[in-house]
Amino acid sequence: MSFKAEQLIALAAVREAAELCKRVQEQMTVSSIEKSDQSPVTIADFGSQALICSRLRRAFPDDPIIAEETSTVLKETGSVNALDGVIRYVRDLRPDASAEDILEWIDYGNQKEHTSRHWTLDPIDGTKGFLRGDQYAIALALIVDGEVQVAAVGCPNLTLSSYPDIKGVIALAVRGEGTELYRLSDAELLGRPSVSDIATPESARFSESVESAHTSHSRSAIISKLLGIVKPAKRLDSQAKYVVVAGGDADIYLRLPSGRRYVENIWDHAAGMLIVEEAGGQVTDTKGTPLDFNHGYQLSQNLGVVVSNGALHLRLLQAIADTSPE
Ligand code: AMP
Ligand code: MG
Repeated sequence: MSFKAEQLIALAAVREAAELCKRVQEQMTVSSIEKSDQSPVTIADFGSQALICSRLRRAFPDDPIIAEETSTVLKETGSVNALDGVIRYVRDLRPDASAEDILEWIDYGNQKEHTSRHWTLDPIDGTKGFLRGDQYAIALALIVDGEVQVAAVGCPNLTLSSYPDIKGVIALAVRGEGTELYRLSDAELLGRPSVSDIATPESARFSESVESAHTSHSRSAIISKLLGIVKPAKRLDSQAKYVVVAGGDADIYLRLPSGRRYVENIWDHAAGMLIVEEAGGQVTDTKGTPLDFNHGYQLSQNLGVVVSNGALHLRLLQAIADTSPE
C-alpha cells in the first residue's frame, strides 16, 4: 500500500509547526506552564499541535490522533496569557483561525485508545530542551494495525555532520521505502541517510537524554565501560537522537529506565523508530523485544528503548542484561 498522500501531508504539517516553534523560541521570552504531572508545556506545544491536527483532520477526517497535549490547561482561568499567545502565533500562519477553532484543533488530538489506523503526535518533544534553547523535535507518525507506516521528525536546531552548513532538518520515512532527509527551511531533499557501519563497540558513539530522570546516566556509563566505549556520550533532548543515529552521527541511543517504573508514551518513539529502521538501524526495548504499538497511547509491554545501527545491537542487549537497573 502506498502512503504518498500521508507522506506529503506529514511533511507539510511538521514544517508549518516547526515554523511556529522557531518563532516562539526566537522571542527568547518562552515561559512554561506546569501540567498535572509536573512536566512543562509552552504555547509552542499547543500551537504546534493545533496546526498539525487541523491539517490531518482536513486531509484524513476519519483518522484519530493520539497527541500529547489537551486544551484543558489552556482553558483554565490562570492561563489567559498563554491562550492569547497560542492564538497570536497560530494566527500569524492561519490568519482566519478563531480561538474556538484553535482549541478544537488541539483537542482533535485527544484520542487515547488504539484503533486500526491512527496518528500519533508529539508537538514538541523535548520541551525542556526547547526551553533551554537546545534541541527539540516535532514528531508525527501514522500507525496502521500496530505498525508504524509513515514518520516525520522535524528538528529545527539540528545540524548533522554530513551537512555542516544546514541547521534545521526533517527526516521522513515510509515503511519499506527508506528514510529521506530534507532541509527544514525550504523542504529541499538533502539525501537518504543511513546508519553507520561500525561493528566494534570500542569505536562507537552513543547518545542519550540530557535529563537524568529520563534515562539512567550511571547505568549507561557502566555499560559503556563494559563495552570499551571511549567517546563521551552525546547528550541531547528529544527524538533528534533517533535522527542522529539514522544519519550516522551516533551509533547507539539508550533509554534505560531509572528510578520508578516509567511507561513510555508512543508519541516519544513511533516516528523516531521508523526513521532509524528505514535508515538501516534497529530499535527494541531493553529486553530485545520490538516496540509494541498495539496498546493505546503507551508502550505498556516494553521496558526502556535500545536504538542502534543494527551491527551493535546484540552486543548492547547483552551488556544491558549483564548490568542491573539502579
Ligand atoms: P528526552 O528529550 O529524550 O529526554 O525525552 C523527552 C520525553 O521524555 C518527554 O516527552 C516525556 O514524555 C518523556 N519522559 C518524561 N518522564 C520520563 C521518565 N521518567 N522516563 C523516561 N521518559 C520520560
Ligand atoms: Mg515527548
